[in-house]
Amino acid sequence: MESEGIEIIRKYLGSLSMRGWGSFEILRLDELEGENRIRLRNSAFGEEYGKIGRTVCYCWSGALAGSIQWNLDTKRISKRVTGSEVTCISKNDKYCEFVIRSKKTSGYTAVQCGPSKMKE
Ligand SMILES: [Zn+2]
Repeated sequence: MESEGIEIIRKYLGSLSMRGWGSFEILRLDELEGENRIRLRNSAFGEEYGKIGRTVCYCWSGALAGSIQWNLDTKRISKRVTGSEVTCISKNDKYCEFVIRSKKTSGYTAVQCGPSKMKE
């Protein structure tokens, strides 16, 4: 059975989709083991940037990691997660996809949004 926290994350993603940020789909959510994967179709950021050869939706990497971290924290699971966008429509991929996995180091996930994270 799905936990209450996972149900809340589903509602959160549904709400983001309704607000026009794109269509979020959970591919895998695992509270204890493995990695979490969330797909985003028609990303508002990706659509705006166009095909520029790199990922652009890094705000969601932090926001999705944050919501998964919140779920772990409320269950007192001492695990720290970090998120990254592995495919992006701006990189000419078919959809944007985020992987949120355990962080090796301790401490909270530092969420960065904006140009400081750009490599080029
Ligand atoms: Zn993207």
